[in-house]
Amino acid sequence: MVSLVEGFWSLQGEGPWVGAPTLFLRTAGCPLRCTYCDTVESYEAPKEFEVRDLQGEGLHLMSNPVTADSLLSASWFQPKGLSCWLSLTGGEPLLWPGFCREIFEAARPRGFHTLLETAALDVAALRQVLPATDHVSLDYKLPSTLNSQGDHADAHLACLEAAVHAEIETSLKIVLTPSTGPGELQQALRAIQPFREGFSLVLQPVTPCLEEREALDARQLLRMVEVALDMDFRIRVLPQVHKSLGLA
Ligand code: SF4
Repeated sequence: MVSLVEGFWSLQGEGPWVGAPTLFLRTAGCPLRCTYCDTVESYEAPKEFEVRDLQGEGLHLMSNPVTADSLLSASWFQPKGLSCWLSLTGGEPLLWPGFCREIFEAARPRGFHTLLETAALDVAALRQVLPATDHVSLDYKLPSTLNSQGDHADAHLACLEAAVHAEIETSLKIVLTPSTGPGELQQALRAIQPFREGFSLVLQPVTPCLEEREALDARQLLRMVEVALDMDFRIRVLPQVHKSLGLA
């Protein structure tokens, strides 16, 4: 069982698979409170959730909690075209590891590639889902972007190590805001540097949202890029493309 906030067809807006046609399932609940969060509605599970098609039209209204079987038996749960993805996003999908594994395992034989987007807080849950995952997008939350308590560096590192050792295609995303200093980025990169050959590093300039009112200045962004290049990372700088296209 899982509680979802929404399901929708769109184009992947973040990370290395940007632009790929994707069916997104957004799970409910998140233990973090990021300063730039654009899905505050995902913190609590609604009684019902909607599934929308690529044009944004409602396809289905379902009640929470829902089983993987009831999603899989819906007519819209079929891939579009020859290469499309099923993305589990949040909220934090790894609050529901049994569901993530079950739906990924059922989606693959239908022709979906499977993509897990996670805040990378729970390595045991991640290990459950990795065998059914084609691409895992891990977050590394810089402390300056968090309102919630705690330092999550150790958890992020454990998740990265598990994904790389499992030889799953992995990207690790760091959101950069105007408050990010080169020292803070350097400290994070030093921690993940031993694994740098096993994943691609995505530097994502923040899209102003919630408490983040300002975009990142281009010169500041390029200073961050220099920091990552000096430490021999394979990097991409990718903003949230769906926002600039006006997509969900
Ligand atoms: S992890 Fe994602 S859903 Fe949770 S607070 Fe951060 S941005 Fe929002």
